[in-house]
Amino acid sequence: MLELLRAIVDEVCSAQTVKETFDIVVERVQSSLKTEICSLYYADHHSQNYLLMANRGFKLDDELNVTIPFHKGLVGLVGEREEPITLSNASRHENYLLIPEIGEEDFDTFLGVPIVHRRQILGILVVQERHQRQFGPEHESFLVTLSAQLAGILAYIDVAELITAQKPFHKTTDFSVQGIPGVAGIAIGDAFLLSPPANLDKVPDRKTDEISYNVQHFQHALEAARKEVSWLGEQLGIRLPKVAPALFDAYKKILASDSLGTEVEEEIRKGWWSATALKRVINSHARALEKVKDPYLKERAADLRDLGRRVLCHLESKQRKSGIDVDNPCVIIADEISAAMLAEVPKEKLLGIVSLKGSLTSHVTILAKALNVPAVLGLPNIDLSKIHGNCIVVDGYSGRVIISPGNSLKREYNKLLEEEKRIYLDLETYRDKPTVTADGYKIPLFVNTGLYADLVKSRRSGVSGIGLYRTEIPFMQRDNFPSEKEQIQIYREALQIFQGSPVKMRTLDVGADKELSYFHHEEPNPYLGWRGIRITLDHPELFLVQLRAMLKASESLHNLEITLPMISHVDEIDEAKAFIRQAYNELLEENPDADIAFPKIGAMIEVPSAVIQAKDIAKRVDFFSIGSNDLAQYILAVDRHNNRVADRYDGLHPAVIRSVHAVINVAKASNIEVNLCGEIAGDPMGAMVYIGLGIDGLSMNAASMPRIKKTLNHYTHSQLTRFALTVIAFEKTCNVRQYLLEQLASVGLDRLVRAGVQ
Ligand code: PEP
Ligand code: MG
Repeated sequence: MLELLRAIVDEVCSAQTVKETFDIVVERVQSSLKTEICSLYYADHHSQNYLLMANRGFKLDDELNVTIPFHKGLVGLVGEREEPITLSNASRHENYLLIPEIGEEDFDTFLGVPIVHRRQILGILVVQERHQRQFGPEHESFLVTLSAQLAGILAYIDVAELITAQKPFHKTTDFSVQGIPGVAGIAIGDAFLLSPPANLDKVPDRKTDEISYNVQHFQHALEAARKEVSWLGEQLGIRLPKVAPALFDAYKKILASDSLGTEVEEEIRKGWWSATALKRVINSHARALEKVKDPYLKERAADLRDLGRRVLCHLESKQRKSGIDVDNPCVIIADEISAAMLAEVPKEKLLGIVSLKGSLTSHVTILAKALNVPAVLGLPNIDLSKIHGNCIVVDGYSGRVIISPGNSLKREYNKLLEEEKRIYLDLETYRDKPTVTADGYKIPLFVNTGLYADLVKSRRSGVSGIGLYRTEIPFMQRDNFPSEKEQIQIYREALQIFQGSPVKMRTLDVGADKELSYFHHEEPNPYLGWRGIRITLDHPELFLVQLRAMLKASESLHNLEITLPMISHVDEIDEAKAFIRQAYNELLEENPDADIAFPKIGAMIEVPSAVIQAKDIAKRVDFFSIGSNDLAQYILAVDRHNNRVADRYDGLHPAVIRSVHAVINVAKASNIEVNLCGEIAGDPMGAMVYIGLGIDGLSMNAASMPRIKKTLNHYTHSQLTRFALTVIAFEKTCNVRQYLLEQLASVGLDRLVRAGVQ
C-alpha cells in the first residue's frame, strides 16, 4: 500500500499541467481500488461550489460543467462533516442529489474523502460502484492517506495555469498563492519576470583540445563579470550605502580569480570546454551548499549560481545591457532574485518583489527591507512566465500574492494602499514628538538597532536610548569574526551617537535562525540547541574579545550596558559576569588611566525557565530585557518561521501576557528596570497591554515608533492599565485582540493595526 501511495504521489508531483495532475489521481485511484468510478472535485470557495475536475467512469464531455453547491448532495456532506463517508445505498440517503449529467442514480456504493489542507477543504475524492459493494476500512484508509498527501500538493497547485486555461469559473475568481511575508506593505502592479542572465543547466558536457584559448576566453568573461558586479554594487551602494557593500563583497570574493577562477581553469586543463568547466565548478559548490541545513549557507548557493550565470553570459558573448527596461513601475517576479538582479531594477520602477525561492535570511529580504519594498517569498512552484504581464497584488502583511485580481478586490487593495500612504504621512508627524499618554505620562521609547539602524536618524527622533543593540548583525555582515579593533569601532559609533543615553548592547546571540557563515554547526533541534550565551560561554576567546571591545568602546562615554541573551540557568549569569569582570580588570591593568565605567548588566528574559526564576535572576542583574519573540516561541512551543504553525504564534497569547506580567512584578519587587524589546513592543496592541501592565520602557525598530507614539498619545495611563487588567483575565488570544481592536476603533485607530485585506 505504501509503495502504491508513494508511486501515485511521485507521479502527481511530476505532472506537467493541472489537468494532468487531476487525471493522474483519478486514474490511479480507479485502478488501485479496482473501482468503476473515481472523481475529483475541487472546492471553489469563491463560488461555493464543488467542481468536477477529473473523472474516470462517467461519460462526460466536459467535467467542468458539473458543479455541486457546497452543502448539497453527498459530496457536500463529506465537505460539511470533514470526514470520510461510506454508503452502500447512496440513492436512498437524504442528502442524495441527482445530477443528470452524471446519472448518479446508477451508482449506489459511495466512498467520499475530503482533501483538507490547514483546516480548509480543497476538494473531495469520490469512488463509486454501480452495484452494491462494501468498501472496507482498507479502502477508506488508502483514500484518507492519499488525500492527506495530495492536500500538500493541491494547496500549491499551479494557479497561473488555471488562470490561463480560461475555464469559466476562473474568470470571476481571484487567485492567490500563499508565501512567506518578507516585507510588510501592499504593492499593486503588473508583474515583470526577471529572467536569469543565462542558463547553466543547458550547457552541454563538451570536451575541447583548445585549452589555452578556453582559459583565455574564460579569463575575459570572468573579468567582464567582475566589472559588471562591481558596477551593480556601486549602483545599489548609492541607494543603500550601509547594506550593499557588505553583500557585494561576498560576490566579489567569489569572483576573485584565485578561488572560482583557479578551479574553473583546472577543469579546462582537464579538457573541458570553458562553459562546461564553469558549470561543473558552480554546480558542485552550489549543490554542497544546498545540502547543508544552515539557511544562511543555503542562500549563498543562490549567489553562487547567479554569479555562474553572469560569467556564462559573458562566455556566450550575449549582448546584455545592464538595467532592465520597463516603462512603468512593476512588481518584480522571479524564481530566485539575487542582490545583483535587484540592482538592475531602477528604484523608481520597483513596486514590489515576489520570489519563489528565498527566506527571511536571504539577500533579497535584506535588500527589500532596506529599500522598504513589500515582498513575498518562498511561494509554491508556479509557472512565472504565465504571470508575467498580469496585474498582481503583493500583500506583504499576510504573504499572499493575488494574481489577476478581480475589480472589487483590486479596489479593496487600492483603498488599503491609499490608506497606508495617508497613515504613513500622518504618522510621520509623530516621528519627532515625545512619547506621552493623553494625561502627560512620559513613556521611555528605545530603539532596536542592527543592520538597518539609522542611528543618527533615530537619535534625532528623541528616543531614550538603544534598548537592544544586536551585535550579531555586524558579525553576520562579515565572513570572519571581526577583530577586537573592528568591534571597538563598530560599538563606539553607536555609543557615541547615543552619548548621554543608555545603550544596551547584547552579547553575541547566534545560533538557531541566526547563523554565521563562518561558524557553522548542524544540530537536529537548533532552537533548543547551542545558541546565545551557551555559545559564548563555551568560547571564552570570542566572548572576552567582544566584552573587551564593548568596554573599550565605552571609554569616557559611560553609557554602555550589557545584555546577556538566552539565559536559562542562573549560573550562566554568574559565569558571564565573571568574564565581564575579567575583561574589565584586564583593560584597567593595561591602562590604569582608562576612563571606563563598569557597565550595568541585564538578562534577556526569553525562555520559560527565566520567567519562573525571575526572582533569582533579579538578584544578579541590574535590568531585565524581555525578548517576547523567543519568549512567545518557547512558551507556546511554536516555531514562528514554520508556515504550518506560524498562525498559532502570538505575542498577545494569554500565557505570554501573564508571563510578562509575572516578570514585571518581580522586577518591581526587586527594584530593577524592566523593558520589552520583542516585536510586540512595536505593535499598537502590544504597547497598550504591556505599558498598561507597568513595563518601564519599550524597545522597537525605528519604523514602528510613530504609530506607537500615536497610539499611546490617545489614552490616559489609567485607561491603559484598565485595558491590560481586562485582557489578562481572558482565556483566548482572539478575545484579547478583539477587545483591544474595539478600544482602538473607539478612537479611530483600528486602521493602525490593519494587516492586509483578510
Ligand atoms: C526576542 O527574542 O524577543 C529578541 C528581542 O531577540 P531576537 O534578536 O532573538 O529577536
Ligand atoms: Mg531572542
